[in-house]
Amino acid sequence: MVNIEGKKKNRIPFSQRLFWSIFFIFLGFTVCFLLFQYQREREFAQEKLNNVLSNYNYQLFRRSQQTDDLNQAVKQFISDIPQKELRVTIIDPSGKVLFDNSGIDEFNNHNDRSEVRKARLYNEGFAIRSSASTGERYFYSANNIGGYIFRSALLYDPYVRGILAVNKDFIYFMALMTLIFFFVLSRFTFNIGRTISKLRDFALNIENGQIPEIDYTFPNDELGDISQNIVTLYHRQQKAKNELSMEREKLIKHFQYSKEGFAMFTAEGKELLSNILFIQFSNVISDTQLHQAEDLLDIPEMESIRTFLKKNINMPNRKKKVLRQSVTVDKNGKIFLIECILFLDNSYELAINDISRQEEESRMKRQLTQNVAHELKTPVSSIQGYLETIMTNPELTPEKLRFFLERCYSQSTRLTGLLRDISVLNRLDEATEMFDLSEVNITKLVGEIQKECSKEMEERKITTEVLLPGNPVIYGNYSLLYSIFRNLFDNAIAYAGEGIKIAVNCYHEDPKFYYFSFADNGAGIAEEHINRIFERFYRVDKGRSRKVGGTGLGLSIVKNGVNFHKGQISVKSSPGKGVTFFFTLKKKM
Ligand code: ADP
Repeated sequence: MVNIEGKKKNRIPFSQRLFWSIFFIFLGFTVCFLLFQYQREREFAQEKLNNVLSNYNYQLFRRSQQTDDLNQAVKQFISDIPQKELRVTIIDPSGKVLFDNSGIDEFNNHNDRSEVRKARLYNEGFAIRSSASTGERYFYSANNIGGYIFRSALLYDPYVRGILAVNKDFIYFMALMTLIFFFVLSRFTFNIGRTISKLRDFALNIENGQIPEIDYTFPNDELGDISQNIVTLYHRQQKAKNELSMEREKLIKHFQYSKEGFAMFTAEGKELLSNILFIQFSNVISDTQLHQAEDLLDIPEMESIRTFLKKNINMPNRKKKVLRQSVTVDKNGKIFLIECILFLDNSYELAINDISRQEEESRMKRQLTQNVAHELKTPVSSIQGYLETIMTNPELTPEKLRFFLERCYSQSTRLTGLLRDISVLNRLDEATEMFDLSEVNITKLVGEIQKECSKEMEERKITTEVLLPGNPVIYGNYSLLYSIFRNLFDNAIAYAGEGIKIAVNCYHEDPKFYYFSFADNGAGIAEEHINRIFERFYRVDKGRSRKVGGTGLGLSIVKNGVNFHKGQISVKSSPGKGVTFFFTLKKKM
């Protein structure tokens, strides 16, 4: 890491590398161009001088044709031209110097001189070299005229050098171009470098785990667009990541608070995740304290799940994406449903559900249906019996007939009452929203019931004492509240006995609830029945209940009615001392 950091510190930034590479390529081209151009300029200058001297050679040839005194002719010619130091040489086809005005007498063969050689080959040639004869440096220009070489030469002195000097303007021009290019390129690469270093800053920030807060703005070009896209993509990805982790968090929370024991395992059987309930249920099922979730698979009850996993994990060409296997375990008075789900990647999950309550509920439901059927059967079959008697005995006396019809009527009333109670309980179970709410004055309601029951109470010499201080008013369902008090009154009248006293009392009130008691000082209920009197169809004395028209549903309706009003109910009784019900009702639902 340190090494990489070190390397990072020493390296040349990308923009500088880009700058220098482009700049050096440009410089290379410029230097090549300069060399080429320089050479061309030099050749051009030499050719220009060569043309002048070549012209002299031809003029000399012409003059030499017109006179015999070559010396005089040459002198005359030189006096006519600006170059007074012109050296003139005439060489015959064999290379022998026929004439030379340099003042030297001895000459060796001149055919080996490079300008002479060129003139022999191409009719003209020039050279800059030192003279083998005079030892001085000359610019020679030779022409082959009819096999004779006419050669003019100028001393390579500052004057000639001036003529041959290369025009350097183009060099200055190229230097200026290079300078301009340098600045333009540096600006361009600086901009690229700025974008890149911004992008790098951004990436470094992310790598160091800092969430970049500043809003990165990039130049308005393609690189800027790409960078902007990267930043936008990062933000989008970050958002998606956050959302995903929130979802995951929610999912984990859901597992933790789920009513189901849940654990996930890798294909190798290692635990990935488990909730508290899974461990608790596992302990109950295994009868020991399991150290880890995977230990549950080792207990004998899990045999079928073990075989299922063994058979299906790593099964080639599996078609179904998800495979399931479940087992029910009855342990320590509880029933558990353990379900194993095997996924395509061979990871699997185990879910444990405590279905004891469900089982109990479905058992109760079955029992309830049986009870309902049974309860309905009794009145229906007695109605049928009476009607049969009437039909099969046409000679029945009007009194007898009336007797049977009255029985039929009373049984059908019972049936209606039963169906009404069942329907109330059904609505309380399934459709509480069907009960509409209004303000119900309890004092008024109790008063009405008292009036309705006054005849029966009188007959049985029952007195009442109603104490409802503060005139309680409940925002609830009228018919349910009526049922609560009516059933309690009916029961007291039916079962408590004669000459008793019924006391209705609102003994306490808090901001949310009214606390009621409903007491009689009659026969009371034996201890073994007291806990069951709220059950549907439960009666202490079946015969007596039927005789007084009871359905066995009265107290169930009372309890559910209280619960509907967010209250609680309890009962206290001892035989001979009467029954007292305590219940609360919420003032406003
Ligand atoms: P029922 O339709 O039989 O009245 P309930 O659910 O109202 O059904 O009552 C259940 C049983 O509780 C009754 O059968 C009765 O034996 C007993 N019971 C209810 N109230 C009283 C009471 N005030 N005194 C004595 N027994 C009572």
